[in-house]
Amino acid sequence: MLRNLLIAALGAALAACASAPTEETPAMPDWSIAIHGGAGVITRDNLSPDQEAAYTAALETALQAGAQILEAGGSALDAVEAAVVVMEDDPLFNSGYGAVMTAAGTHELDASIMVGDGRDAGAVAGVTTTKNPIRLARAVMEQSEHVMFAGPGADAFSAAHGLEQVDNSYFTTERRKRALERVLESRARTAADRHGTVGAVALDRSGTLAAATSTGGMTAKAPGRVGDSPLIGAATYAQNGVCAVSATGHGEYFIRVGVARTICSRIELAGDSLEGAAETALGEVAALGGDGGVIVMGGDGEVAFVFNSEGMYRGRAAPGVLETAIFAEEAETAGE
Ligand code: ASP
Repeated sequence: MLRNLLIAALGAALAACASAPTEETPAMPDWSIAIHGGAGVITRDNLSPDQEAAYTAALETALQAGAQILEAGGSALDAVEAAVVVMEDDPLFNSGYGAVMTAAGTHELDASIMVGDGRDAGAVAGVTTTKNPIRLARAVMEQSEHVMFAGPGADAFSAAHGLEQVDNSYFTTERRKRALERVLESRARTAADRHGTVGAVALDRSGTLAAATSTGGMTAKAPGRVGDSPLIGAATYAQNGVCAVSATGHGEYFIRVGVARTICSRIELAGDSLEGAAETALGEVAALGGDGGVIVMGGDGEVAFVFNSEGMYRGRAAPGVLETAIFAEEAETAGE
């Protein structure tokens, strides 16, 4: 059955948008998951109906992967990892297979994951041979005494811990090669060249929140450049009873604002609503000149999608609900 996802404008100043829960959505679902596949200039003019259908199907597949785990009583951590792995394996998104290329024509991948119970976290930056960087971020969290590995040390940790290894060329697609050539030739990035990161937030039946984010970064980024996606507190945060956040956007600005931690702090300390906290953080990003979006989940599984770009690939699921949306002004939805 099709449902409408309510989209509410959150203020012309920010040009931010958020979705409100549908009337059918229980106020306190016993599990909940939300995902994003990047924010940016995504309008009906620059996305064909075929592309729209492909993104919608991909978002639904990712949501279902997480939802199945949660419905079976699995953990929020397993759910966000599973949803992100689906998007890492899908070349539509800028993460894993199909990630954007550095100026040197290679791939350097960033990812982070956090669980709200105990606030354990793991992150990796600039990894080159791990098929699913989000799995490596989780391995860092669970199998090392550290929170973050970068570069060759991260690749070595990955191989030593038995994660699936691939040649760097595995991540390359024609679409990303063409984008790199265009950016190197024009010496300018379009908004699309700066976006496409994937992420997920979830609440499981035990009340634990988790968040995960994975990206290839920006097209033609300088080798060694690290964005916000692997930084706990910038793109990713989870704290039980407060919120879980995954962000996407122009990373330099998200790092400087500390977007994910700012949102959770405002909810925890200032009593902001999910939308209010996200609006404030993205307002700071916009004031500095950046754009992007966030998915935010409250301690009770409520979800907010807030972005100051022209669209964000996004979706959510809860018992009896499965919805996706792409454009700012309208949402495609699918339910059961
Ligand atoms: N935040 C990512 C970065 O700056 C890009 C994105 O979200 O698409 O690396």
